[in-house]
Amino acid sequence: MRGRWSSLAAAALLVAGSLLVPAGPALAAPAFKVPFPCGQSWSGQTRSDHSPAYAVDFNRTDDLGDPVVASAPGTVDRVTDLGGTSYGKYVRIDHGGGYTTYYAHLNGFNVSVGQSVGYGRVIGWVGSTGGSTGPHLHYEQRLNGNDIQVRFNGTLALYWGTKTYTSDNNCAGTATGTVNTAGADLTVRSGPGTGYAPVGSVADGAKVTIYCQTSGTTVTGTYGTSSIWDRIGTGRYISDAYVYTGYDGYIPNVPRC
Ligand SMILES: [Zn+2]
Repeated sequence: MRGRWSSLAAAALLVAGSLLVPAGPALAAPAFKVPFPCGQSWSGQTRSDHSPAYAVDFNRTDDLGDPVVASAPGTVDRVTDLGGTSYGKYVRIDHGGGYTTYYAHLNGFNVSVGQSVGYGRVIGWVGSTGGSTGPHLHYEQRLNGNDIQVRFNGTLALYWGTKTYTSDNNCAGTATGTVNTAGADLTVRSGPGTGYAPVGSVADGAKVTIYCQTSGTTVTGTYGTSSIWDRIGTGRYISDAYVYTGYDGYIPNVPRC
């Protein structure tokens, strides 16, 4: 009796299992984003001799100390310093569903274990710790602990080779502004002030995406006097005194740089 009962119970469990947990694909992957702030462009390299193979190494000019951000919401489950070997200082984020991301060779940490993070949360800074020969971010996506091919917004990274990836991570907080100079082009500066080097210009009437705002040199322009500067790209700032945003001061929901 016992044996027969057990086999019946096992059959019932199998049926129940097949009803409750249908065979099929794993939970959908999170919508992973490029692990850098909105609007930044980074060169991402994959190579077959990388360890693990599907990791991406990210670089850009003068990247030492640049902020690294969470590529999807989750819970930080490792903030570890391996010293002069391997990943060096690294963070792991658990995104649920078996998905984790790794951020290695960091210069420093900005999160702690157990912390919940959302898109765009700064978790640390680009460094060259551990087994690294120069500043870069070593980034991985894993499923159930296994290295998987990296995807951003569901799109496969380039395997193998080097490609520029532009971040749309946490871009929900951007705004659109309209440049109004009453004629002349508006000078774009490398930082939030008239003392920063000119790095280009935008035409009167141009629409610009404002990624963040910060305070800088006080400027009197079309819309009065303001010390607010708008970042409209990587290392590109314009005075808010010449930009119609619909707001006199800081724009709600747009982050401070
Ligand atoms: Zn690497």
